[in-house]
Amino acid sequence: MKVPMVDMLAGYPPIKDEIEAAVKNVFNKAHFILGEDVAKFEKDFAAHNGAKYCVGVANGTDALRMAYIASGIRKGDEVITSPFTFIATSETISQVGAVPVFADIDPVTFNLDPKSVEKKITKKTRAIVPVHLYGMPCDMDAIMALAKKHNLIVVEDTAQAFTGKYKLGGKDWKYLGTMGHCGTFSFFPAKNLGAFGDGGAVLTNDENIHATLIQLRNHGSKVRYHHEMEGFNSRLDTVQAAILSIRLRHVEKWTEMRAKVAAKYAEQLKGVCVTPVVPANARHSFNYYTIRFDSKAKRDNAQKYLTEVGIANQIYYPIALHLQEAYKHLGGKKGDLPVCDAVMDTVFSLPMYPELTDEQIKAVTDAVKTSLSVTAK
Ligand SMILES: *Cc1c(COP(=O)(O)O)cnc(C)c1O
Repeated sequence: MKVPMVDMLAGYPPIKDEIEAAVKNVFNKAHFILGEDVAKFEKDFAAHNGAKYCVGVANGTDALRMAYIASGIRKGDEVITSPFTFIATSETISQVGAVPVFADIDPVTFNLDPKSVEKKITKKTRAIVPVHLYGMPCDMDAIMALAKKHNLIVVEDTAQAFTGKYKLGGKDWKYLGTMGHCGTFSFFPAKNLGAFGDGGAVLTNDENIHATLIQLRNHGSKVRYHHEMEGFNSRLDTVQAAILSIRLRHVEKWTEMRAKVAAKYAEQLKGVCVTPVVPANARHSFNYYTIRFDSKAKRDNAQKYLTEVGIANQIYYPIALHLQEAYKHLGGKKGDLPVCDAVMDTVFSLPMYPELTDEQIKAVTDAVKTSLSVTAK
């Protein structure tokens, strides 16, 4: 049985009419840049997350870059982040003139290990960028405590973790992306809330950061042709905003569906490999479902075997950032971040989207099990 990594069309039929009406409405108004559709989505997205402000931007990468600038990261600053993430997290650190510093990760959550972060703090450290990888919440209490102690900025890369929650059960539970000075989001089609193209957003509760972001996304200007600073052309597209407002109304249900798929995977893979261990008081967004083997050989064989039988799979990420050619100048080498080195060699991700059927799930887990007893070609 063929199983794709994601199926962008599976969830479309039930909302097709709503989406097409919304798009037609934008076309009829012919107000294509910003306007009320973007403002409405920003209001809805902020309210959904319990944040004060949302600024819609062109994509999740620009969201990071502008969040770094707006929250005060400057040339020469050191910014501590995870080596086990997509390069968007760190390339944007360099692009604002700062230096990415990679700390090691936790062997269970695969997210920044606060103890390793603390060891990397120097006089030049200005910020910490936790990444809620795959949708798994970071240890935000420990990260925020470190930030407070050392007077650091925190920008949460929430590209994979919208609808994830932290400290459930308590009165002060939060959506991921609302605990740092800024939280950044991506609406790339394959994320939990996907647009029909590119899109992104920044959440913040800080009035000044919000005001700066509004300027940055529009060439540093509040009033047309008056530029208080240099900025970017990075507005959330109006057609995408209209689509996102509709998809936002379904996203919690989709995350529940993802969680059900995850629970079935976990049950069927018990004792076969390591499945995600979600802290009891947290909600994983399950943007990706990542399993771990006890050796690289087993992982590589499983990956090859699944591909052979038509089951899509992907290693997020095969080469950690500290070992990438792009960061050779930082002098990172294998052994510097031993947990990360071991994790990147033993994980891979299975197909994950809300509409996966029981038959597909069984085909995936059967293939993982079989891979342990056969040698893939
Ligand atoms: C997808 C992603 C981004 C970038 O988002 P784009 O919208 O593709 O620019 C940044 N960080 C992480 C962790 C991501 O997964």
